[in-house]
Amino acid sequence: MMLPEIEVGLTEEELAIRDTVHKFAAEVMRPVGERLDRLPDPADVIAEGSELWAVFEQYRALGIGLDAMDDSDLDPLRRARIRALINEEMGWGDGGLAISLSVAEFHRVFARLSGNPELIERFCKTNSTEIGCWAITEPSHGSDMLKNDPKDFQPPARKPDCIAERDGDDFIINGQKSAWVSNGTIADVGVLFCSLMEGDELKGGCVGVVPFDLPGVSKGKPLDKLGQRALNQGEIFFDNVRVPASYLFIGPEMYVPIVEIVLSGANGTMGTIWAGCARAALEHAIDYSKERIQGGIPIGQHPHMQARLFKMLTKVEAARSLVRRVSYFNGLGEGQMHYAIASKVFATQTAFEVASEALQIFGGNGLTREYPMEKLLRDARSAMIEDGCNELLCTLGGSKL
Ligand SMILES: Cc1cc2nc3c(=O)[nH]c(=O)nc-3n(C[C@H](O)[C@H](O)[C@H](O)COP(=O)(O)OP(=O)(O)OC[C@H]3O[C@@H](n4cnc5c(N)ncnc54)[C@H](O)[C@@H]3O)c2cc1C
Repeated sequence: MMLPEIEVGLTEEELAIRDTVHKFAAEVMRPVGERLDRLPDPADVIAEGSELWAVFEQYRALGIGLDAMDDSDLDPLRRARIRALINEEMGWGDGGLAISLSVAEFHRVFARLSGNPELIERFCKTNSTEIGCWAITEPSHGSDMLKNDPKDFQPPARKPDCIAERDGDDFIINGQKSAWVSNGTIADVGVLFCSLMEGDELKGGCVGVVPFDLPGVSKGKPLDKLGQRALNQGEIFFDNVRVPASYLFIGPEMYVPIVEIVLSGANGTMGTIWAGCARAALEHAIDYSKERIQGGIPIGQHPHMQARLFKMLTKVEAARSLVRRVSYFNGLGEGQMHYAIASKVFATQTAFEVASEALQIFGGNGLTREYPMEKLLRDARSAMIEDGCNELLCTLGGSKL
């Protein structure tokens, strides 16, 4: 079954886009995501001939990427409404693949933000197949990168792992980003967040778009992990990488606001994607409750089961309501980071709780790979760490109150 849409006032156009994306999620993302999840070696996920590449191709063909929507003459609210519907359907299909497809376009957003014609010309070509990423986390600095407290990067704390130093008209980048960078080993280009040094002095953070075909850039092995296994992740290394100064266009004075803006966008997107995962888990549970017979009747006819499903529905609809409201609010340009964090934390927690309860409803079958629940639970669990651990995000959100 598909949960009804209770949003009031969706237009014909919005419904048509939602249905198109739902078809893509049901026919492509979900089955391919399940098959990629089972590959024992994450290198096979990104091997030549992997089904992953067909997912990218078919997604591009749909013309629903961030860029396509930015080029359209949609007003900001309409764009935010459509984006929320698209993300929910993609999260319903496969959360890990939804993240991979979304972050693949991230560098284009930053190239436009730079206002630099060279960057726009180079990275925002129509029909480009370049894959992007958001390279922020470092081996010694996970949550630190979001917290932005300079003392976390000075002795006695660990120094930054990735630094940029000015050299004439260029920056020289050295160090590495952690194995958690989504699309890390398949990315052609990345939005790099790193630390700016002057001699031994840490000046703060800087951000820009860095192509990965520059001499000195190399990649690690694809990461082997518990959930979202279709999402490629891996390290990026920089060995005296020379990049024009205009590419690292955000300096220390704007670093904190940019982290907040990016977190607002990324956490808002995460909220809508993982609300989709929560919905998928509930729909599976309802379907199963109609098939599985115990006590002589389908388990869904036992009142206690009906109450359990109803509690799950309440949580899923609460998550859908919150993430959409935040998307619309942030989409109008009035975005506030703590609302995006609320959306991400609540939706990922809901996805985990609902997937866990749904697995319980499947009984022993829920634990097996023959049924979808164990994968959904692993995927949702990972989302509680992705884009910032939920606890750390709560402290960031709380600091704004
Ligand atoms: C699926 C997935 C996708 C990801 N995608 C990307 C990506 O695209 N790009 C990228 O750069 N990174 C990515 N990450 C990395 C992610 O953002 C980090 O894992 C996250 O920020 C946490 O960092 P950490 O793993 O180093 O944990 P740590 O920061 O070491 O945290 C460990 C524990 O300590 C707690 N903690 C940390 N600091 C504090 C504090 N100040 N106060 C109280 N408690 C604290 C945390 O809540 C956590 O429980 C991804 C991660 C996952 C799981």
